[in-house]
Amino acid sequence: MSVLELQRDVIYGPISSRRLGRSLGINLLPPGRKACTFDCVYCQYGTAHTVRGPEGQAGFPSVDSVMQKVEEGLRRLPSPPDYLTFSGNGEPTLHPDFPDIVSRMLDLRGRMCPQTRLAILSNSSRMHRPEVREAVAQLDDPIMKLDAGDPQTLARLSRPSSAITLERILEDLEAMPRLIIQTMIIEGAVQNAKGEAHEAWLAAVARLSPEMVQIYTAERPVAESGVR
Ligand code: SF4
Repeated sequence: MSVLELQRDVIYGPISSRRLGRSLGINLLPPGRKACTFDCVYCQYGTAHTVRGPEGQAGFPSVDSVMQKVEEGLRRLPSPPDYLTFSGNGEPTLHPDFPDIVSRMLDLRGRMCPQTRLAILSNSSRMHRPEVREAVAQLDDPIMKLDAGDPQTLARLSRPSSAITLERILEDLEAMPRLIIQTMIIEGAVQNAKGEAHEAWLAAVARLSPEMVQIYTAERPVAESGVR
């Protein structure tokens, strides 16, 4: 199964999201390039940390261009979307001006579509940075990934960058004022669906006590064969 094509612009959709309804996606990562602190075995964008397309050398979009493209995208829609969602080609909080973008996006939402909710789909790995954590806390739906409750499963399933540990992720998530957990349940050579891996994940969720847990399965293409 081939993986999905990377987003080549700031906005995409609106897509019909299983979780968020009609969602206008915001890609803060470089166009055509996956930029992430994880390399999940089920990633719909494939295994490589960096996939270079024709625009692959380009950097992160400027704050002004992000705001302009989202505003233009909203103007083109016949009605406001249910959600504006930070997601795209990797981990959205990697954008160096992420806090500024959140602040301006809240203003734009207030002016153009006050009923639309603001969400992020994050892998939870950068909440140790206070400015990032504070920005995420301002969003209506801080949807944070937690696929593993033990270090071995995190290492094999999420394949994080070397500085990232499970304990640090859990401590950072505990410090968030509001928390929605998202978890992909998979089976295969590495799995979190049963046994010790699943029990450890349950214990981690209980420790965090989020206001919601979104559990889902892989409906899109996955990076590694054998992931179910
Ligand atoms: S966190 Fe998301 S973008 Fe990053 S590797 Fe995992 S599934 Fe892909």
